[in-house]
Amino acid sequence: PRLKLYHFLKNTYCCQAEHKPIRSVLVANRGEIAIRVFRACSELGIKSVAVYSEQDKMHMHRLKADESYLVGKGLAPVEAYLSIPEIIRVCKENDIDAVHPGYGFLSERSDFAQAVIDAGIRFIGPTPEVVQNMGDKMAARKAAGEADVPIVPGSIGAVTSKEEALSFCEKHGLPVIFKAAHGGGGRGMRVVEKMEEVEESFERASHEALASFGNGEMFIEKFIERPRHVEIQVLGDKAGNVVHLYERDCSVQRRHQKVVEIAPAPHLAEEIRDKITDAALRLARHVGYENAGTVEFLCDERGEFYFIEVNARLQVEHTVTEEITGIDLVQAQIRIAEGMTLDELGLTQERIVPRGVAIQCRVTAEDPAHDFQPNTGRIEVFRSGEGMGIRIDSASAYAGAIISPYYDSLLVKVISHASDLKSAASKMDRSLREFRIRGVKTNIPFLLNVLENEKFLNGVLDTYFIDEHPDLFQ
Ligand code: ADP
Repeated sequence: PRLKLYHFLKNTYCCQAEHKPIRSVLVANRGEIAIRVFRACSELGIKSVAVYSEQDKMHMHRLKADESYLVGKGLAPVEAYLSIPEIIRVCKENDIDAVHPGYGFLSERSDFAQAVIDAGIRFIGPTPEVVQNMGDKMAARKAAGEADVPIVPGSIGAVTSKEEALSFCEKHGLPVIFKAAHGGGGRGMRVVEKMEEVEESFERASHEALASFGNGEMFIEKFIERPRHVEIQVLGDKAGNVVHLYERDCSVQRRHQKVVEIAPAPHLAEEIRDKITDAALRLARHVGYENAGTVEFLCDERGEFYFIEVNARLQVEHTVTEEITGIDLVQAQIRIAEGMTLDELGLTQERIVPRGVAIQCRVTAEDPAHDFQPNTGRIEVFRSGEGMGIRIDSASAYAGAIISPYYDSLLVKVISHASDLKSAASKMDRSLREFRIRGVKTNIPFLLNVLENEKFLNGVLDTYFIDEHPDLFQ
């Protein structure tokens, strides 16, 4: 009831005042996601503004924006995109109305969202409080519990010493997974199967967490065996309304990182889908979620599902949801930031209807024959595989492009959309076979093996899929 009263007051006194058009958007990011946002802006008649590091002065994302500005002169390549004062400076000097953070970099930093707002600029994403709370996996677990969303059984709060970790494991049994509270991108996690490994693994994991995320806080979850990764896309407006845009299956992972994503999840029973989407909406409502976000779950073979985390931002794989729903998520994000309600956007739950199946493959400059080592250099030849039902989102894939070692190795996102999984897979297969990339090695041979795998084609997936198929690497 308190939340309702809050939204009522907010609607009555704030929303109208906040309903101001956005005339310019700066994207605090690079690569394909920056271009993705510029395209949405361009279609809405909004000025798009890029920032770029010194190393990116020739990069494509700069050229796809209406304006571009150098940030972080003299800083290291990644630091440039992490420099909050620099980005705020560019915003102020150029009278920017709103900032889109993309994914990675500053997208999950609540201090960034707050700095943007403090500068009188709109942040295209959830409120800083929500970004902060959801960025802390333990706080998110707590919120899920409060919203009556099932969570993976695990420690209540942080586990601060190896002795504590050992006693948790003795009490609850193995296997478990140690997780960094502030981890992400598949890092800061360690699966433990043997009691004698507990103490050392715990020490190592917390050191890694401290080194990678600047915070060594750890918690423990039971390791769910043979889970599927199913995540729900949600959208919330400033008036407290939330909808879901169905789910994605991201079980095809390497080292806990997604490689191929599918929407909707194959063979997910209607009744379980309903339960999971309801759970995601309950959590979104509970935390007052605004803008686009993803609620991630693991599902086991018995159809039980468990919340793992919320990604309070746009995700790499948002494209497959766009394909099956026909909804431009980035445009929706911008409109929501302007103060429009889901109703005004025509995004009521009954109007969101999934159609067909979409697959996304992340084509990376990595060598599958050598443990997916990032491959750098100049792309000498580039031809892509377009055609009906294929969407290509890329930034750095063209003849002459220099693939540097400084940033993520994602080259192209290829998305296929067709009536069912097999047709979407065969479209994707056809497209990837048409690609010709010379100069850098890519993971295309590996992706083709996935797409031609019998289990994949039958939609029989869990997170063990890649590890259990060494033939995919040939
Ligand atoms: P990140 O934030 O680094 O992406 P997540 O918590 O989202 O980490 O987990 C990423 C992946 O790790 C999951 O999709 C799953 O494959 C695996 N994983 C995470 N937690 C568990 C668990 N409790 N049991 C089994 N696998 C897990």
